[in-house]
Amino acid sequence: MDVSEILERAATGKLCCLSCRSGCGVTDYAARVCPKCSGPLELRAASGKGRIHSFAVFHTQYTSELAAPYTVLFVELEEGCRLAALLDSPKGPPPKVGDPVVFARTGSGAVHFSLQ
Ligand SMILES: [Zn+2]
Repeated sequence: MDVSEILERAATGKLCCLSCRSGCGVTDYAARVCPKCSGPLELRAASGKGRIHSFAVFHTQYTSELAAPYTVLFVELEEGCRLAALLDSPKGPPPKVGDPVVFARTGSGAVHFSLQ
């Protein structure tokens, strides 16, 4: 399972989690085997809802596609796994840890979330 397949599915509107094929549950996106039973993992549909676990506002522009300032989130999904994502529509008050967010789209090789 690699990141490109997760991004390809997300581009069609289907955000996925990595889950143990034998039913141990959802695991980290970086896992290669189930940390509980060492068995294979599979992609499962995720709700796309989560909360901000942490975030950082970048004030330096590193690529032509991403104008500064932009906000990188570390989102904890309802399913329990965490992923890095960009925050859409950063105008308005800055986000807070714990704010509810929802999967919005993909773009520039990243997953985007917006505040709920
Ligand atoms: Zn397992």
